[in-house]
Amino acid sequence: DMEINRAVAYLESGLSVLIRCEKLLVEHLAHEIAGRSGRSARMLRLGGGSAAAGLAPGTASGMASGMASGLGDATPLGGGRRAELLAALQAAVTDAKPGDVVVVPHLDLLAGGTDATLTSEARELTDVLYERSACVLLAFTDPSLVIPEVLANRFAVRLSIEILPREVTTRSGERVPVGRALVTRAEAELFDGFDATDLYKYVAGMNAVRFRNALRFAYHQHRPAIGAARRPTFADLRHELRVFKARTSSSFEVPNVPFSAIGGYGDVKAELERALTIVGGAVDLPEHLRHDLVPRGFIFHGPPGTGKTLFAKAVAARLAATILVVSGPEVTDMYVGESERKVRELFAEARRNAPAVVVFDEFDSIAARRSGRDDGGSRAGNAIVAQLLTELDGFRPEVPVLIIGTTNRIDLIDDALLRPSRFRPIRIDLPQEDARREIARVHADHFGIPVSPALVDGIARVTEGLNGDEIRSVFRDGRADELVGADRRRADARRLGELIGALKAARGQREREKNPRLGRSGDGQRRVTLVGPIRLAGVA
Ligand code: ADP
Repeated sequence: DMEINRAVAYLESGLSVLIRCEKLLVEHLAHEIAGRSGRSARMLRLGGGSAAAGLAPGTASGMASGMASGLGDATPLGGGRRAELLAALQAAVTDAKPGDVVVVPHLDLLAGGTDATLTSEARELTDVLYERSACVLLAFTDPSLVIPEVLANRFAVRLSIEILPREVTTRSGERVPVGRALVTRAEAELFDGFDATDLYKYVAGMNAVRFRNALRFAYHQHRPAIGAARRPTFADLRHELRVFKARTSSSFEVPNVPFSAIGGYGDVKAELERALTIVGGAVDLPEHLRHDLVPRGFIFHGPPGTGKTLFAKAVAARLAATILVVSGPEVTDMYVGESERKVRELFAEARRNAPAVVVFDEFDSIAARRSGRDDGGSRAGNAIVAQLLTELDGFRPEVPVLIIGTTNRIDLIDDALLRPSRFRPIRIDLPQEDARREIARVHADHFGIPVSPALVDGIARVTEGLNGDEIRSVFRDGRADELVGADRRRADARRLGELIGALKAARGQREREKNPRLGRSGDGQRRVTLVGPIRLAGVA
């Protein structure tokens, strides 16, 4: 109500307003704000033409169907449609009487693209809007799309109505938890133990429309069978909200890796637990402390296959967050300027899926300091890093988005990102013997291979230098042989030993190829160091 009233007040005093909000909200907000302003409003429709706002029910459906075609891929409108819309806007602006409001629901689509450079369409649009600068406009633009600055400047004020806050002000001026404002009493009663005050934690990043959809879906999923005693519970609702968020997004997933599925690394787990307690309790910290205490993210660094991505998933699961794993080069292998846009879009989507963890694999490809700088690269030299920092500083407790970068080249990472309030580096090294023992146990369990404590000890001993991924592969291959191998061999100590031996041999081979001098004796003759099957049989 507060945001809507503010927009209305500006319109009433004859100022043009630009609102940044998700497309799903545009229709609702446009009608409400234009309606309350008491001015006569002309709503521009994507179907072409304009209509007096709120007139016929057809107005809304016309908008909706127009939206459906232009929305999905957020690409600009086709040239013909845009020309039509531009003509309609021109007419609406020209015909507007003093005091009228012209409503432009999708200024971003009209502006001809997501790039900040002025396309000819955007130039034309700018002409139209500036020509009658006295005409009062109410326009909307999506947070994931950009409009040229010169267009945005046409508006006296810009407001952002993005996501659900913890509390909202009702029309009567009362402040109520968002869980009460958006859920009727009857709906709340459908879920056993519904907690209106607590709900905000689970709707972070959603807008009101998506939340209502999710609520409906959750009830459908859990509606009790006739005669059944069990009612859907608040826990059911929370779970569905999380799954719903992930499903309505193209790429975010709901991770289910508990810390207990990671073998060893007690110190890393303890450090993460400490940090996550702070992140989890961030909302209760005073604003000024929050900024200093809560890390924007982590950088997991160490050799490949040591469970860095696995740790990221466990972190997300622990925060009841959705997760998206992006490969670094995927972001950087784009045209100039495109990468920043990609980062912006990623964050916009992460906020919609919040709480969310975004994992950048091979983070060094994104966040490497620019080489060849005389200042040693202490400044954020490249544009992607700059964009990343902008997005990170936008961190708010209502929209918890955590970034995790993984890399095996921490030495390449831009120092600007390693400042304490930004990324906390955490080293994840090759597993020590204790860790290897636990990793072996986790995967023996997972693949249903019975192992004695002595065998696990033996495996831990002989897998020195192997990473978690390789230890896992021993059990995976052993199990695969049992099930589908030609001779269906049992995954006993002898077989596991063979598999480990083969792994070590392959690794030795790789290292020799990388470094041909290795494994040759002084006279240049290749010294053959074959790793045979590892003997585990004795301990079986
Ligand atoms: P990284 O991101 O460090 O390259 P990953 O997280 O992708 O490594 O690890 C690959 C796989 O190796 C994991 O999915 C997991 O099955 C296994 N793995 C690695 N480390 C561990 C560990 N400490 N405990 C259990 N499994 C592990």
